[in-house]
Amino acid sequence: MKPLSVYVHIPFCTIKCGYCDFNAYAGMHGLMPSYRNALVREIAGWGDVLGRREVVTIGFGGGTPGEMPAEQIGEVVRAVRESSGAFTDDAEVSLEANPGTTSYRHFEGLRAAGVTRLSLGAQSFDTDELRFLDRIHSAEATEGSLQLAREAGFESVSLDLIYGLPGQEMATWERNLRRAIELEPDHISAYALTVEEGTPLAFRVGRGEVTPLDGDLVAAMYDRASELLEAAGFRQYELSNWAKPGHESRHNLAYWIDREYLGVGAGAHGYLGGERYENIAHPRAYIAAFGPDGGGRQEVGGGVRPAVAERYIPDRATALFDWLTLALRRIEGFAPEQFEARFGLGVEDAVGPVLDECERAGLLGRDGRVRLSRAGRQLHSEIAVRILAHLREQVVAAD
Ligand code: SF4
Repeated sequence: MKPLSVYVHIPFCTIKCGYCDFNAYAGMHGLMPSYRNALVREIAGWGDVLGRREVVTIGFGGGTPGEMPAEQIGEVVRAVRESSGAFTDDAEVSLEANPGTTSYRHFEGLRAAGVTRLSLGAQSFDTDELRFLDRIHSAEATEGSLQLAREAGFESVSLDLIYGLPGQEMATWERNLRRAIELEPDHISAYALTVEEGTPLAFRVGRGEVTPLDGDLVAAMYDRASELLEAAGFRQYELSNWAKPGHESRHNLAYWIDREYLGVGAGAHGYLGGERYENIAHPRAYIAAFGPDGGGRQEVGGGVRPAVAERYIPDRATALFDWLTLALRRIEGFAPEQFEARFGLGVEDAVGPVLDECERAGLLGRDGRVRLSRAGRQLHSEIAVRILAHLREQVVAAD
């Protein structure tokens, strides 16, 4: 049975943070019960697909899934479990939660609902930075939430951090990292702040109220994170993720190792049978698709799903590009045989000149596996652009 992952999107948040371009909405918590019903119906509609597969991970992302009542999360987990062909006790069920909106009782309920792994959106331990990010919690709330998660029995807890904030100094970032390490989580994710088009932060940058941090300092912060986290016993396994042994995010690995995943919920992305799709984004439209009249639903390839915002089978160049750039996000990279088994084409034939160029520049190594060097990790996006340009040129040349 081919393993499958399931991503469940929960689009509700207490407030919409100014830097966020996720499919997340504030002030809609009242929709949760009908949203849960829609999720359960969508999952049941995928019964033919799920029934043929072993579900190895479920990932609740958002939005803030931690704000959904534990019983409702439990119903969604049960719906996946009951529809899937196999669902073993060691399947990972991960959920993102925000500090300050949690309690011991809630965590206990999530454990009982089958959640095995928590990701806490700490982001920073600095009051001014948290305010800049519009986060509603304090550093103390993060500490308290981690403690409560442990008491409720969570053996795998991750802290998410953001760096590269406008005006941030290296010393503040180091303090954040050290405080996160002191709390002894099992996993830490660290992402550089990006200014996403259309967000309030982008408008503030456009009006000159906020100046993005210098790129060299952001790069130095990334290197410092690697140094401090590795010295504290965390192993980097992906560009932005470090874990204690055995605590890597198995759900997120699905994306990087080309495993298929079903995406359910408003705006969820999925990758199934070679097709990539994105569900209709707005929670009300999504709920309506699974309401009594069923408008906006469609039957496709063994499943019933809501109207999709986008649905396409990647052309060959895009499929090669997706595979390579995702595989290169992993610190261990990939073996050329894996690429060949997937595409029936040698990686050197596909992108040899780009790999040569990157190797000469010290960005990449080929020692039986193809992997980015420390310098290359900082330039993953630029390398991806070169890979895509080369693949497109080949397609044009072949035409
Ligand atoms: S809590 Fe997370 S998902 Fe929600 S608005 Fe803020 S950054 Fe976006």
